[in-house]
Amino acid sequence: MRYKVLGETGLKVSVIGFGAIKLPEISLEEAIKLLNRALDLGINFIDTARGYGDSETKIGIALKDRRDEFHIATKTHIRDADGAFKDIERSLKELQTDYIDLYQLHTVSTKEEYRKVMSPGGALEALKRARQKGLIGHIGITIHRDLDVMRMAIESGEFETIMLAYNPLDPEGVEREGILKLAKEYGLGVIIMKPLSGGQLVLPETEMGRQIGNDPLVRGCLRYILSNQYVDTVIPGIKRVEELEEDVLVADMPIPMSEEEKQELFAMIGKLGKSFRYGQICLRCGYCLPCPQGIEIPEVFRAYDSYMNYPEEVKEVGLKIYASLKVKPDACTECRQCVQRCPAGIDIPAKLKEVTKVLEEALRARSLA
Ligand code: SF4
Ligand code: SF4
Repeated sequence: MRYKVLGETGLKVSVIGFGAIKLPEISLEEAIKLLNRALDLGINFIDTARGYGDSETKIGIALKDRRDEFHIATKTHIRDADGAFKDIERSLKELQTDYIDLYQLHTVSTKEEYRKVMSPGGALEALKRARQKGLIGHIGITIHRDLDVMRMAIESGEFETIMLAYNPLDPEGVEREGILKLAKEYGLGVIIMKPLSGGQLVLPETEMGRQIGNDPLVRGCLRYILSNQYVDTVIPGIKRVEELEEDVLVADMPIPMSEEEKQELFAMIGKLGKSFRYGQICLRCGYCLPCPQGIEIPEVFRAYDSYMNYPEEVKEVGLKIYASLKVKPDACTECRQCVQRCPAGIDIPAKLKEVTKVLEEALRARSLA
């Protein structure tokens, strides 16, 4: 197992952490075995949440006698100070500990939510109070999708860690848009969630027999994430000993991955031939580039995916990306050079036409509104 210091917290954490979101899906006996095995294999960072059913309770029961062997992180969805402080007290009780290493504000993913937690009487106050009292060690935040909120949180100086969704598909653009790098520059610890896109980046069981514990796609994704210099730890959700043992193996694989290995990984993902979370089909791998016409194909598809599949507030992001393209997709001459290079087998010229139609119409409608 390799370890990294989590930002400026001073916590030395295993690069493979234990995502405890799935503990409610297994029995207490299974959870006890699994969590103890995790510590035995060198994992020393466990991430849970008040909102993960009985996850905290199971961790408390399973590991109360080994509390000095791991760092515990948990989080609250409550947005006001009094409620959040009660959540911290409840976490301490359920986890059977008198100290939580990292407490996070959970899924603060819109500007409105962000303003709420940061305002006087907001949840951040509770976390600061708890830190002052020595109940928690460090304060973190977890954010989805809104890159502006991520930037604000990082630059606020209030948070010591940030948890972001990242995997080879980079569905939220945290690598492409420099969020991971920014977090590192500001000294935050970077924790990665959704490394397998919520269980989507796994090979189907039928294709190569039983995949659990022996899935090259799972290993590839985790290794890809750990190859990113800005990442401190990744927390796959784990519910089986086989998964755990496979994930831990990745920690000792060499990094960074070579370009050929990355290509193989994207080819594997492309072969899955399905659309991913938020309807994403393009893998953003960039292997279709360069286009002789200068079309930034992955950016065009990112604009389209954001517009089509994200909630209303993120649709604007899609239109903004589209409006800022230097070369619009209607410049495509249908030479099809890109098609041969695309591991996802996308009929790129046809898709570009579809994108142009939808986004041009949307832009026109906005300007008329
Ligand atoms: S088919 Fe269109 S998008 Fe693809 S390389 Fe040719 S011009 Fe570029
Ligand atoms: S269009 Fe294909 S090659 Fe280009 S970025 Fe998307 S998945 Fe990769």
